[in-house]
Amino acid sequence: MMSDVASQTPFPIARGLRGRCPCCGEGKLFEGFLRLRARCDHCGLDYSFADAGDGPAVFVILIGGFIVVFAALITEILYQPPYWLHAALWLPLILIVTLAPLRPIKGLLIALQFHHEAAEGRLEKRGGD
Ligand SMILES: [Zn+2]
Repeated sequence: MMSDVASQTPFPIARGLRGRCPCCGEGKLFEGFLRLRARCDHCGLDYSFADAGDGPAVFVILIGGFIVVFAALITEILYQPPYWLHAALWLPLILIVTLAPLRPIKGLLIALQFHHEAAEGRLEKRGGD
């Protein structure tokens, strides 16, 4: 049972950020850059429960957008550089602040989903009454 395993594991932030299995912390979570494996190659946990959805992209857009826009505004106010310098500065920064945190954030959200047993709502059949 997932609930038994999840209640025994410590809070899994480090495992998620490292892209490791949220259950055992040993097996790899990702197959490609963002594609999940079918199951953990160490403990066999089925990753079919994992669905981060748009969550990683939303966090990356909000945090990365703030960093780049804030840096561009401060630079413009203080130095008024030419537009080609803005492009040379902020286009690489956009790639860095969007691509670098995407995988750790996706791993973190999946680890938190596993830890808190979060899933889509389902109708539950009551037994006995
Ligand atoms: Zn595992």
